[in-house]
Amino acid sequence: MLHIEELASGKPRYDYSRADIQAIYDLPMTTLVYLAQSVHRRYYAQDEIQLSTLLSIKTGGCKENCGYCPQSAHYETNVQSHGLLSVDDIIAQAREAKANGSSRFCMGAAWRSPPRRGPQFQQVLDAVRAVRGLGLEVCTTLGMLDTEQAQALAEAGVHAYNHNLDTSPEYYSEIITTRSYQDRLDTLQNVRDAGMTVCCGGIVGMGESKEDRIGLLQQLQSLKPHPESVPINLLVRVEGTPLEAEQELDIFELVRTIATACIIMPQSRVRLSAGRTQMSDEAQALCFMAGASSIFTGEKLLTTPNPGDSRDRELFRRLGLKPVAGPPPEAENQPLAASSAMEQSHSL
Ligand code: SF4
Repeated sequence: MLHIEELASGKPRYDYSRADIQAIYDLPMTTLVYLAQSVHRRYYAQDEIQLSTLLSIKTGGCKENCGYCPQSAHYETNVQSHGLLSVDDIIAQAREAKANGSSRFCMGAAWRSPPRRGPQFQQVLDAVRAVRGLGLEVCTTLGMLDTEQAQALAEAGVHAYNHNLDTSPEYYSEIITTRSYQDRLDTLQNVRDAGMTVCCGGIVGMGESKEDRIGLLQQLQSLKPHPESVPINLLVRVEGTPLEAEQELDIFELVRTIATACIIMPQSRVRLSAGRTQMSDEAQALCFMAGASSIFTGEKLLTTPNPGDSRDRELFRRLGLKPVAGPPPEAENQPLAASSAMEQSHSL
C-alpha cells in the first residue's frame, strides 16, 4: 500500500509496480497536482522554469519509421530537409538562445545513429565544444549511440543525451518497427556508461491507452538513477505521418502523466515539451502546477511549431514565473530546505 506522506517525502524509488503508478495517476486531480507540486518543491525552486532551446542541426531523410515523425524518410511530409549545419551556423543560433534566456542548448539530428564514416560526427563534436564554450549546458539527440560515440560526445562536453522511450513496451511496435525497445535501452546504458546524464521521456496522444502511459512511466522510473530530465510530449499531428488523424487526447491525461512523473521520479526535471501550441495558457499553467519545470523555447521544436519567445515571456509574466538562471549542472538535484510537503496521513 502506498502512503501519501511517503510519496510526498520525495525519496527516489525504482520499484513502483504498474498498480502503484496507476493508483497515483488516478488520484483526484486536486490531490494529484498538490502532491506533485509538494514533491517538486523539495528539489526545485517553485517559481523557476528551465528554458531549453532545441535546434535541428540536420533535418529530414531519417531511415527510421517513427509514426509521429515528419522527418522520417518513410513518409511524405512538408518538412524541408537539410544536411548538417556548419559549426558557425550552430554557434550563431546558440548565442541567440543564450541571449533569450536559455541555459541549455540541445542539438538534434535526424539520424538512425551518427554516421561512423566521414567528417559529420567530428563536426558535431566541434559544435559541442563551441557551444559549451559559450557557457551553455549542452544536450544532443542524434539517434542510437555505440560506446565509442557516447564516449566521444561525453569527452567533447555533452552534459545530457536525449533518447526517448516514447511509449510502453507493449504499444511500441504500433509506433516504430525499425528499431526495438531494447535498442533504446542499450543506447541509454551507453550514455550512462560514458558519464553523460540521460534525458528520456515519451509522447502521449498517439492512440495509446492509459495503461500504456502508465507502462511508459513504469519503465522510466525503473532506470537507475532516474533520468536527469523527462520530456513529456503531446503528439503534434503532422500531415503525411501515420498519426496525422489521431484523436485528440484529453489534456487532463497529459497533466496526470506529468504529475505522476514528478511524484515517482522526484529528482528529475520534467519538461513540458512538444504540443504546447495546441494547449491553452491555462492548460500549460496546470502542467507547471503539476511540477513541469522546463520548456523548449523558440518558434520551432525541431520541425513542429512552438509558441515562440515573446509568447512565453508574456505567459511567464502573467504566471509570475522566471527562467532558471543557468546553474552549473552539478548544483541541480540537491534537495532544497524544508518543503511544504503534505502533512496529512493518507493511504491510496
Ligand atoms: S524521431 Fe528521430 S529517429 Fe524517429 S524518424 Fe524522427 S528523426 Fe528519425
